[in-house]
Parts: sequence; structure tokens; C-alpha cells
Amino acid sequence: MIMDDSLETQVCMLESHMDGMIERAKKNEEMLKRFQDLDMRLLSLNSLRELVEHIHDDAKLVFKLTSLSLVLADASGEIQQFLAEDGFKFDEFSSVILLSEVALFKAKLGLSPSVLLGEAERVLPKEFWPSSVPMPTTVAVIPLLRRGVYLGCMVFGSEDKVRFQVDMATYFLDRLGRVLSVCMENTLNYEQLRRSSLFDTLTGINNRRFFEQRIDEELLRSIRTGDSLTCLFIDIDWFKKVNDNYGHQVGDTALRHVATVLREQLRSNDILARYGGEEFVALLPTANERKGVEVAERMRAAVASSLVKLLDEQELSITVSIGVSTCVVDEIGVLSPIDRTVLIGVADEALYRAKDAGRNRVMSGGEVSISSQRGVATVNSA
Ligand code: GH3
Ligand code: MG
Ligand code: MG
Repeated sequence: MIMDDSLETQVCMLESHMDGMIERAKKNEEMLKRFQDLDMRLLSLNSLRELVEHIHDDAKLVFKLTSLSLVLADASGEIQQFLAEDGFKFDEFSSVILLSEVALFKAKLGLSPSVLLGEAERVLPKEFWPSSVPMPTTVAVIPLLRRGVYLGCMVFGSEDKVRFQVDMATYFLDRLGRVLSVCMENTLNYEQLRRSSLFDTLTGINNRRFFEQRIDEELLRSIRTGDSLTCLFIDIDWFKKVNDNYGHQVGDTALRHVATVLREQLRSNDILARYGGEEFVALLPTANERKGVEVAERMRAAVASSLVKLLDEQELSITVSIGVSTCVVDEIGVLSPIDRTVLIGVADEALYRAKDAGRNRVMSGGEVSISSQRGVATVNSA
């Protein structure tokens, strides 16, 4: 069949148009695949540190970005604390910015979850870019919003003048913003829950659950290294009278006060927990009996000499009694660790002797030794 020229030209144009469309569809499919892979990775992460590190590294790779910044709203300093506790290296991630002034997000980005595109000079507030990194030429500012509250924003930067333009479609970036916001919210909730399950809400120190996890870990470590481990059982004296005479609120204030004073006497790697009611427990890794008694005596004296400040300028004096027990390892590497209840039990008994002897004093229950012959703990009474 012979086609006339104009028909042939039209067919050629249609073909090339089709090729273009197929090419674009392929590119979109690839893009979608890369987005979905990124979504899946983000959704599978467990900690805030992992999430922040992945967003930082993956987004740069997936979007072939020159630079980016991740700005997080951190009014209470909680995110800073979560990341620091998890060993996040702030100096290696200078493009992660934590902003305590959360009102800035609403002021600079409004309350719409849509992505802002264009020249950095025009659309990028300077607070959302690390001061140590030169400003990019064009940017996409992706808000991270959940239920009308800003969690932060993410900024993609490019040196390409046409990479992020005002009239560009933002379907993929909008979607990423939404997925990321949900991931961020979930991770923050998880981190808060994880911590609240390990801390005592009244005193702010660790709780019994945390202590029970750690004592097992510390006992195993002692067995591995041969170091002693000292346990202090601390009970406030006549505490019922504090509640009876001043009320429970003053009792709570006194509990917080004692927790603070006790913590001040410990090293950073010692463990202090509220065991229950007006009882506290401390674990001193590597401390022998003499050292344990010395620390306990320091704690007792510090509580006795400090005064609980009450609202009406009244001051209240309280004391504690402390029982000490020390785990010593006869032979490094024995296979059967002692049950934690033995170590706690010996300290608890010593505490009762301190109470019987008149309170406001320290008593040691001696050493609990782990020996390979018997495979069980024996108490070498003081
Ligand atoms: P002892 O010197 O023998 O230890 O006497 P105590 O009065 O300290 O001991 P007792 O076990 O008789 O009383 C402990 C009190 O601690 C009773 C309880 O009401 C109080 N208590 C326990 N938990 C809390 C708390 O969270 N807040 C307040 N305010 N009081 C608490
Ligand atoms: Mg008690
Ligand atoms: Mg008591």
C-alpha cells in the first residue's frame, strides 16, 4: 500500500509520540518501584535512630540528590535525648536539624501538607538548612504533618536550575511526605512507650523491670570478667509517718528528693531503680564489698544531711537504711549464673538488720560467691 506523504508524516509523529509516552511510563514505573522500595524500608525500621539515618542516606540515593536536610520539631528536647541515648552521631549527620521553636514550621510553611518547589532563595527558610552547607539552587520542601501537627519537614536540594520547579507534579513527593510522617509518628510513639516501660514516672529513675533485666546482664558480665558486683537495698525510714503527717503529695516530693540525692552519689554506669513503694535498689558493677559499703554510707549520709523542701518553706528531714550484698566470682567463666534473688535477698536481709539496729544505718550481708564446683551461690556471711 502506498501512503501519501502527509499520512506518512502523521504516522511518524504518532509513533514518536507513542515512543515518548512509553518512555515516560517506563520512567514513572521505575520511579514508583524506587519509591515503593523506600516505603518498605522505612516501614520496617524500629528505632528513631534507624529511621533518621535511613531517610538521610536512602533519600539521597533514591532521588539522586546533591544535598538534603531533615528538620524535626523537638520542643521538649525528647528527640535529641532519644537519638543521643541510641548513639546517634550528630556530627556525622550535620543535615539533621532539631528545632525547639516548633511554631516556625507553621509560620514558614503554613498548614497545608503540600510540597513547596522552586528556587532555594525564594522558598527555603534559612532555619531549615544546615548553616555549614551551601544553599542549593532549587529545592523541594516536603512537610511532615500528622493530624495538623508538624513533626518537621524534609528538604531535597539540587544544583540543577530546572530540577524542582513550581509547576512540577508532586504526586511522588506528596506521597513520600505522608508515608514518612506516619513512620515518624509511629517511631516516636514506640520510643516513648519503650522508655516509659523502663522508667518510674514519679521519680524519673529506672523502674524495677529495668533493674531485673540489668541485674541478670550484670551477673553474667561478672561471671565473664571475674569482677565483683555490689547490690544496695535502700528503704526510707518511717515513711508511713511522712504520709500520715504531711499527706501523700509531700510523700511523693520526698520520694523524688531521695531518688535525686541517691543518684548524685553514683557513677554514671551504676544503676539506680525504684524497686517499689519507698524502696530503691542500686547496682554497682565492679565494686567489692568495702567499696559498696563506702558508697552506701555516702548515700545514707547525703540523705540524712539534706532537707526536703516543702511548698510553704517548711523543710523535712528524712533518713534511709541500706543493706549491702556483693557477688564475687571464684572462677571466671563458670556456667551456672546465680539467681538474682540470692543477691537481692542477702541485701534485703541486711537491710532488715539495719532497721532493727535503729535505722539510718548501713549493714552488709557479706559476699555471695559463685563457685564452679557447686554451680550455685554460697553466702559468705559478714
Ligand atoms: P520502716 O522504717 O520500717 O521502713 O517504716 P516505713 O513507714 O517506711 O514502712 P512501711 O512499710 O510501714 O510504710 C511504707 C509507706 O510507703 C506506706 C505507703 O503508704 C508509702 N508509699 C509507698 N509508695 C508510695 C508512693 O508512691 N507515694 C507515697 N506518697 N507514699 C508511698
Ligand atoms: Mg519498705
Ligand atoms: Mg520504709
